Amino acid sequence: MLASEIRARIVALCRDLSRRGFLAATGGNVAIRVDEACFAVTPSAVDYAVLRPQDVCIVRLSDQARIDGDLRPSVETGLHAQVLARRPEVACSIHTHQPAASALALIGEAVAVDDAELLALLGPELPVVGYMPSGTSLLAKKLGRALRANTNAYLLANHGVVCCGPSVEAAVAAVEGLETLARRLLERRIAERASKDEADAPSLRRLLLTIDTR
Ligand SMILES: [Zn+2]
Repeated sequence: MLASEIRARIVALCRDLSRRGFLAATGGNVAIRVDEACFAVTPSAVDYAVLRPQDVCIVRLSDQARIDGDLRPSVETGLHAQVLARRPEVACSIHTHQPAASALALIGEAVAVDDAELLALLGPELPVVGYMPSGTSLLAKKLGRALRANTNAYLLANHGVVCCGPSVEAAVAAVEGLETLARRLLERRIAERASKDEADAPSLRRLLLTIDTR
C-alpha cells in the first residue's frame, strides 16, 4: 500500500472505531506500517471527526522522527514504534481506551483466554503492562518488554489497551475480540459478587450496561 492509501485507510479506520465507541474524540491512536523503515500514525490532539488524510503523520521506525505531515505525531507514537519494531509480522497497532477492556486494565490482572476463537485472535494470556504515565518513553519501554510473538492484546494498567495484528483487519478483530472477552469477564465477576450477596453487585451491573461497544 502507498503512504497516501495508508493515510486514507487510517482516517476511515479512526472514524469507524469512533462510531463504534472504541475511540472517543481525540482519545486513542492508530499506526499502520508503510514499509520496513517507516509507519503512519494519527496526529496528536486532532478530533477523529475532522481528521483528514494529510493530517496523518509518517514517521521513521528507528527514531520516530517525522518524515511527512505538518502536524505533531500522537504522543503514543513510541508505543506503536515498540510494537512495529519488535514484531516484524505486525502491520497495524491500535491503542484505545475502549470501555470494558480499560475497566479490566484497572483490575490489573493478566487474563487467560479460554475461548478457542478468541485465543487464536488474541493469544493464550493477555499481560498487564505496569502503570507509567501516558505518552512517556517509560510506558513504551514497558510495553516493549511485555511484547510476545503470539499475543495481540495488552492491558495498560490504569490506562487502556494496545492491540495489534498482521493486517489492519486482524488488529481491528483483536480490538473487538478483546472487548467481547473483557465484557464477559466483568459480567462473570459481577455474577460472583452477586452470588456472595455483595452490596455493590447491582450498581456494578448497571455500570456495565452503560458500557456498550457492541
Ligand atoms: Zn491512551
